[in-house]
Amino acid sequence: MPHRTIHLFRKGLRLHDNPTLLAALESSEVVYPVYILDRKFLMSVMHIGDLRWHFLLQSLEDLQKNLCQLGSCLLVIQGEYESVLRDHVQKWNITQVTLDAEMEPFYKEMEASIRRLGEELGFEVLSLVGHSLYDTKRILDLNSGTPPLTYKRFLHILSLLGDPEVPVRNLTAEDFQRCRPPDPGLAECYRVPLPVDLKISLESLSPWRGGETEGLQRLEQHLTDQGWVASFTKPRTIPNSLLPSTTGLSPYFSMGCLSVRTFFYRLSNIYAQAKHHSLPPVSLQGQLLWREFFYTVASATPNFTKMAGNPICLQINWCEDAERLHKWKTAQTGFPWIDAIMTQLRQEGWIHHLARHAVACFLTRGDLWISWEEGMKVFEELLLDADYSINAGNWMWLSASAFFHQYTRIFCPVRFGRRTDPEGQYIRKYLPILKNFPSKYIYEPWTASEEEQKQAGCIIGQDYPFPMVNHKEASDHNLQLMKQVREEQYRTAQLTRDDTDDPMEIKVKRDHSEESISKGKVARMTE
Ligand code: FAD
Repeated sequence: MPHRTIHLFRKGLRLHDNPTLLAALESSEVVYPVYILDRKFLMSVMHIGDLRWHFLLQSLEDLQKNLCQLGSCLLVIQGEYESVLRDHVQKWNITQVTLDAEMEPFYKEMEASIRRLGEELGFEVLSLVGHSLYDTKRILDLNSGTPPLTYKRFLHILSLLGDPEVPVRNLTAEDFQRCRPPDPGLAECYRVPLPVDLKISLESLSPWRGGETEGLQRLEQHLTDQGWVASFTKPRTIPNSLLPSTTGLSPYFSMGCLSVRTFFYRLSNIYAQAKHHSLPPVSLQGQLLWREFFYTVASATPNFTKMAGNPICLQINWCEDAERLHKWKTAQTGFPWIDAIMTQLRQEGWIHHLARHAVACFLTRGDLWISWEEGMKVFEELLLDADYSINAGNWMWLSASAFFHQYTRIFCPVRFGRRTDPEGQYIRKYLPILKNFPSKYIYEPWTASEEEQKQAGCIIGQDYPFPMVNHKEASDHNLQLMKQVREEQYRTAQLTRDDTDDPMEIKVKRDHSEESISKGKVARMTE
């Protein structure tokens, strides 16, 4: 008997490479495409901020339009997950609920409760993996049931597993015609709400537009430049370019407006035609594999987004300092490079990877010694691409709590940005109060004379703050703390480290860093 199905969109807001929706259409006489807009869940569990609200609503609007073109529609039902499902399963005589399998604990818990409801009300549940390249369970199985904790080990396991599954075919009008769409009246009743309906501020509008259509357009644009794609080398991209120097696809992957498998295979095709191409970890496919790496580790690490109870994370006695945290969050550190990045993040919801490095290092092990969890929460609220596994994984990385071990390398909040943007165009754009300073002062305006500050129309300490810390003193002090932590917790630090590389090499590196520390030589890095 064909099913009467609710296809529940959670992420996966797309019609290309959507294996679960395809399976729903193939097994049903009627499919109700539903998004449950559970505000409590989105705000208190996902911590979604205004910019992401807009992006989400635009993505739903786009999905609605695309479904309509294929003869169906999207039903956005507001309310709490379980009660919405309970009501509509009964009202529509539903025999099957389909949804993408997700790996975040809160989504897993949601799926478990839907399965319990299915047992109670007599419907089946089908969930398939569509948000990552692989089913992370297969990777864990091949690694004796545990996550590979280094990228190198991870790549080794993938080499045993082979390429990811190829994307499923795009959905067509015929797929939707085979089964009945919801009554047209329902679409009217359950339309995508406007931001004003949800009281979302209209002031916070990012230049990034949500949705599958926009995501696919951006993807196509990048892929036309095959030379750029083939030679992409992440560390050579520029954190302070005025337009993204990387793909800028992360918000679309994060909500599943774009399929990572589609991107992966499009890259493979380009690589196959290129004479040479870059490789992981720095290539574009390498970036997708970083995503996959963090997904895999997060899927099997308890308390992955926390320090306490997280077995791979160093346990550090970070400072609790609400005032300093607030200054960092609101772009008032007095370091223009850091404040410009935090302003871009707040205004647009996206910043370059190395810009994320700069502000994360500054908040944690570099200057303020504030917990990475605090930074992660701010990113979670402000980033359009906020992602449970990637966000926490990278924050652990940057704070040298896990994954990253060259902790003597500390980013300088003055020199890092200057290297790729000596004129400070990026700072002038995001901190217009500083725009009239000559280039030699733009990264450290407090060094300009009173007269020069007057000429620039900005008095430091009055119109823009003095630096909140002495970077050299703070970073020297923090480096000693970090060295001590890592000596005390040597075993934990080793968990996410590749000591298999070359034991001599590691020894030399370790000796070298200890020597640097003992001579008080902090390697301040501008990677
Ligand atoms: P590209 O360089 O074009 O890469 C293509 C895709 O690969 C990205 O869209 C992303 O899906 C993936 N990717 C790239 N770099 C990484 C990485 N280091 N780890 C995992 N996946 C990666 N990325 C998020 O998607 N969500 C987050 O919440 C997030 N939080 C971060 C927090 C910190 C402190 C840091 C340092 C990085 C964080 N990143 C996060 C990773 C990375 O900065 C972004 O994925 C990347 O900058 C997005 O830009 P892009 O799409 O142009 O990336």
